[in-house]
Amino acid sequence: MSKSSKKGGSTKESCSFCGRSRQNNDAFVEGPAGIFICADCIDLCYNIVRQEQRKLSGAATMLKEVPKPREIKEYLDEYVIGQAAAKKYLAVAVHNHYKRLLHTDSDNNDLDLDKSNVLMIGPTGSGKTLLARTLARELNVPFAICDATTVTEAGYVGEDVENFLLRLLQAADYDIEAAQRGIVYVDEIDKVGKSNQNVSITRDVSGEGVQQSLLKMLEGTIANIPPQGGRKHPEQSYIQIDTSQILFICGGTFVGLENIIKKRLGRKMIGFNSEAPKAQSSQAEYSDVLSNVTAEDVIAYGMIPELVGRLPVITNLEALDINALIDIMTKPRNALIRQYQKFFEMEEAQLEFTSEALEMLAKKALKRDTGARALRAVTEELMIDLMYRLPDEPKPGKYVITDKVVSGEEDIFEQKKESA
Ligand code: ADP
Repeated sequence: MSKSSKKGGSTKESCSFCGRSRQNNDAFVEGPAGIFICADCIDLCYNIVRQEQRKLSGAATMLKEVPKPREIKEYLDEYVIGQAAAKKYLAVAVHNHYKRLLHTDSDNNDLDLDKSNVLMIGPTGSGKTLLARTLARELNVPFAICDATTVTEAGYVGEDVENFLLRLLQAADYDIEAAQRGIVYVDEIDKVGKSNQNVSITRDVSGEGVQQSLLKMLEGTIANIPPQGGRKHPEQSYIQIDTSQILFICGGTFVGLENIIKKRLGRKMIGFNSEAPKAQSSQAEYSDVLSNVTAEDVIAYGMIPELVGRLPVITNLEALDINALIDIMTKPRNALIRQYQKFFEMEEAQLEFTSEALEMLAKKALKRDTGARALRAVTEELMIDLMYRLPDEPKPGKYVITDKVVSGEEDIFEQKKESA
């Protein structure tokens, strides 16, 4: 119906919306019966329509499709190996969180449903951040990863907790409505425990001040966000964000927590040990003990009771063993090995790893004691040389990475020439 008219020169045409008459080379869109709209008004209309759509879609349509806990877990399974207990807890917590939002939106909200913020406890590189990140992607909500150790009490060098919300807002493309329903992952929450040895001179002495400010956010507050980040100062203008519907997932390694749990379990643990004397590895034992964690243990560790009270779901992640590491390299949708195979494919080359090679890589990674995090570093060290030389090799090619290649005893390109 409408057509774009962009004639040169001044005419008597004017925008039917703002009344501005058309100047040289103005882009006007023409409708029927001499109706025109100028570019500025098109812009304005577009923004109005988008805002309306956001209001509708952000809140209502997203929430109509709250996935079932089983569906959430199945999705997590595609990307995260093991950690069944944590996946289940998270799936239920998130499912309930969104049900709660629906409930709040409905007119029939006679009963207040509490927010189910989650605390995940587990060793470094066991998948805490990965779980939170994968979850946010599945739910299609804004997601921000923040580090509790960057926050300090006012007056010290560091950030305010409000910066976490700024990050969420940025992830939401400054759509406040969407940000208010997002997920914030707060890493290293254990490092603000008050009994912790303070290694940083820039952080507040007890960590309690930081916990207090985190508490406010977790409880639900109208937070004032400095749009540029950094420390707040009086002359600044703020963006206000209501945190009552934001889901907070906190994670931490809680080194030494197992001793607190053991102490509490006391005699019961002795019973455990006598049944299976030294049969378990230290890692398996650690996971076993941690699976008994309660809110009281976390409080004994140094978190303030009010904050722990706002984290009603506590779950633990297991330390990854060698088989889990091998699975991590090969099974997830975006597994490391698959990524390398893709790179090789681009050079018309096929890439395979023998099971012995994978085992050797996993063992190497295990030694570094940083969980699956070491896998990338270990494989990268191996692959860097191959990737460097690959484009110079004849195409098409097929390469098999054996344990000898991993240990450096064999050169994969030499191996190929010999077999040719
Ligand atoms: P953390 O528990 O310290 O938060 P991350 O989730 O950041 O650990 O894990 C670091 C990396 O290790 C992830 O990006 C992922 O590639 C890999 N990883 C860790 N745990 C798992 C797991 N259970 N399944 C698949 N990959 C994992």
